[in-house]
Amino acid sequence: MMMREIFRSKWKRSDPYLKLTTAQKVSFERNNTFAISPGPDFSCPGATEACKDCYATKNRHYFKNVMSAHYLNFVTMQEAMKDDDLYNNIVNDLYNKIKNKKIFRIHESGDFFSQGYINLWDNVIKECSETKFWTFTRSFNFDYSHILKNENFKLLASVDDYNKKEGLEFTEKYNILIGFGPVEFKPDKISDLIEDHKSSICPLTLKDHNYSKLRCSICGHCQNGKGNVVFIKH
Ligand code: SF4
Repeated sequence: MMMREIFRSKWKRSDPYLKLTTAQKVSFERNNTFAISPGPDFSCPGATEACKDCYATKNRHYFKNVMSAHYLNFVTMQEAMKDDDLYNNIVNDLYNKIKNKKIFRIHESGDFFSQGYINLWDNVIKECSETKFWTFTRSFNFDYSHILKNENFKLLASVDDYNKKEGLEFTEKYNILIGFGPVEFKPDKISDLIEDHKSSICPLTLKDHNYSKLRCSICGHCQNGKGNVVFIKH
């Protein structure tokens, strides 16, 4: 049996609820992000050559229990696109899990894989009006006009050397910021990078950052829409 079928056989219609993930980099809160299986075979229709260096395909993301949880989330979301009861249960479940959080990162792993799935998150974001949400996308072919009306949501376009043209058109269309990379870290080029992309370097992707202190919740660059950001390969 292929991995997809094995996971499908484990998916239980009676237990549709999703698992959130605790990403140390996001904040000091638990369950601060949602993750689904990444890559062009799963939730990333806009994946490019640059995605072979994506952190979500490395290290702990390859642990069996992590892959399994992300795949079950992905399959559950796919099923919800065909089942109104499940869809409503999921929106309600995510609302209950997220409503008291200050910030929430959608897709520590994965991307928007369908218009219906974007609309589902639009509903959750509207319900959780006290929480600041943000995410990045290479799925440029969907309609984000509704979800972007939420003041508590920031979307950044994931742009790299392979999708630059479409990425820049996308950012202009929606007037949003860019997350560029991942790129090689070359200390003598760091100022060029900032100038080229009119950006800040994401401090979490610098090798010497202090993990005991640094979190997205402290940096605040992306969820507050402060500017473009460059990600170093890590
Ligand atoms: S730039 Fe700041 S907010 Fe954005 S991903 Fe990096 S640490 Fe998080």
